[in-house]
Amino acid sequence: MSPEQHLLEYDRRHVWHPYAPTVGADPMLAVTAADGARLQLHDGEHRYEVIDGMASWWCQIHGYRNPVLDEAVSRQSSQFSHVMFGGLTHQAAVDAVKALVDLAPEPLDRVFLADSGSVGVEVSLKLARQVQIARTAARGGTLTRTRIAALRGAYHGDTLGAMSVCDPVGGMHAMFSDSIPQQLFLPRPPSFDADDDAVETWCDQANEIIDAHRDELAGIIVEPILQGAGGMWPWSPACLKHLRQRADDLDLVLIADEVATGFGRTGKLFACEWADIVPDIMVVGKSMTGGYMTQSAVLCSDELATEVSRGPGGSLMHGPTFMGNPLASAVTAASLGIVAQGGWQDDVARINEVMSRELTPLRDLDGVIDVRVFGAIAAVQVDSPIVMRRATRTAVENRVWLRPFRDLVYAMPPYICTEDDLVVMAAGMRAVVTDQLTHTSLEES
Ligand SMILES: *Cc1c(COP(=O)(O)O)cnc(C)c1O
Repeated sequence: MSPEQHLLEYDRRHVWHPYAPTVGADPMLAVTAADGARLQLHDGEHRYEVIDGMASWWCQIHGYRNPVLDEAVSRQSSQFSHVMFGGLTHQAAVDAVKALVDLAPEPLDRVFLADSGSVGVEVSLKLARQVQIARTAARGGTLTRTRIAALRGAYHGDTLGAMSVCDPVGGMHAMFSDSIPQQLFLPRPPSFDADDDAVETWCDQANEIIDAHRDELAGIIVEPILQGAGGMWPWSPACLKHLRQRADDLDLVLIADEVATGFGRTGKLFACEWADIVPDIMVVGKSMTGGYMTQSAVLCSDELATEVSRGPGGSLMHGPTFMGNPLASAVTAASLGIVAQGGWQDDVARINEVMSRELTPLRDLDGVIDVRVFGAIAAVQVDSPIVMRRATRTAVENRVWLRPFRDLVYAMPPYICTEDDLVVMAAGMRAVVTDQLTHTSLEES
């Protein structure tokens, strides 16, 4: 057996993969190298060079083996790779926090470094609750405000608290109903370019739910302007503005989960800018480290942090072992340094233009429901569930790495992709869509 066959065989027997069974799983591909926007893959028989349309689940914005990020990691690892963050601090964490504060909208200048997007969301939910505990204590009342309002179609992560604010169906709430908090769900907002009538209808529906539960609610959580893993759905900025207003009126904490949308992906540095609002709490992750390491951050105003610190708990009740990890912090600072230079604006514009041009014609195909290109996100929605094994195979044979889900073939390319890369990527998407449509229509006939 070749080394790649050994690797794949051992993996098949012993390794869990995300959202995958251990029995009857689709075959894995081994990554043997990665550089720029490209991955070298091996299926045990053949080697394939592909352009990564997934940016490794939306986080590798500056590309693999980026010299600036490589240097940041090796410089830090030559000093120290990890120290605890309780009672200790270090330059890398301060650099990462400074880079975040410099990019974030005012007044979000207090930063909690967490380990992943999901943990960041957990921290934001705890923070929102602690804000209400502090406010209730200050008023001298009894706490009733403990629930969170979320949107249908949302995705906020895989831990139990984060799951509780994911779409109830997509998030499999029934399976975990006794172990996740029961939250409140507002309908999915209408599309980004929805007309005034559609916005008004949605606002009325949302108001009805919010008003009926106003004394139970601690806060509202949203993926601003783009729902990601719930369906690549760009939604109306007017609806987000409305939620900001409701949160202000009812003294609710508005949490913006910018884990997927942050750092330019939607064409604004943060997606909240589309609605010209600032949340009370902002969660960022994924591309924050340039996709090099797992780290996320929860930002709020110093005023909010002070309220919590003077409240009954006396501090924010969270503190992971690897909080502020120096390697991750160093690469966050370096990655955000690249973001701060602003080149992402041209990159996102280029991705948007090429993907729109190359994918819009798919709208005319029978079986294609929608083509959505928003910022540096491109999605083709079809009328049947994508057959993953066929889809990835077709993509790889077309020199692209894609990982569709449900009825969506999509790309979230690394920002460094050239026009030529994007043309190849879009062609790969078209091949997957066409194959899916002919395959399902053959099965039906
Ligand atoms: C990916 C994602 C998360 C979860 O992040 P992990 O790092 O996978 O835990 C949370 N919220 C949104 C919007 C995401 O896209």
